[in-house]
Amino acid sequence: MAALAANFGRFEIEGRPKFPNAYIGRVGLDGNPEGDLPMTHVIAEPCIGTKSGDCVDVCPVDCIYEEEEMFYIHPEECIDCGACVAVCPVTAIFTEGDLPDKWSEYKEKNRELAGLA
Ligand code: SF4
Ligand code: SF4
Repeated sequence: MAALAANFGRFEIEGRPKFPNAYIGRVGLDGNPEGDLPMTHVIAEPCIGTKSGDCVDVCPVDCIYEEEEMFYIHPEECIDCGACVAVCPVTAIFTEGDLPDKWSEYKEKNRELAGLA
């Protein structure tokens, strides 16, 4: 367990361990399947009207999907590797913790587009 903690030490939310969702499935951090579901990376407003698709090309687990208006990240499939962030030409991708307040609704929007809300 210590090795796991070391490997995933950067995956923390408010001091709680946040392992990649691929490992925990759709179970909230409080253990409640309908509870405090973790979000991973979030695509926000700048994607609208751009939709370049660069992020899709680098995602190692193919968890970025296209919708009519924008792309979104499936929160249960994202492993939080961060590869997509650097390639987005309009800085539309953020970790949940770094998501600007003005785009906070995009956390829920990504969940809705993924069919989880
Ligand atoms: S953080 Fe990694 S796994 Fe998640 S969407 Fe971006 S590239 Fe894909
Ligand atoms: S790279 Fe950025 S703008 Fe292009 S599809 Fe992904 S999130 Fe949208």
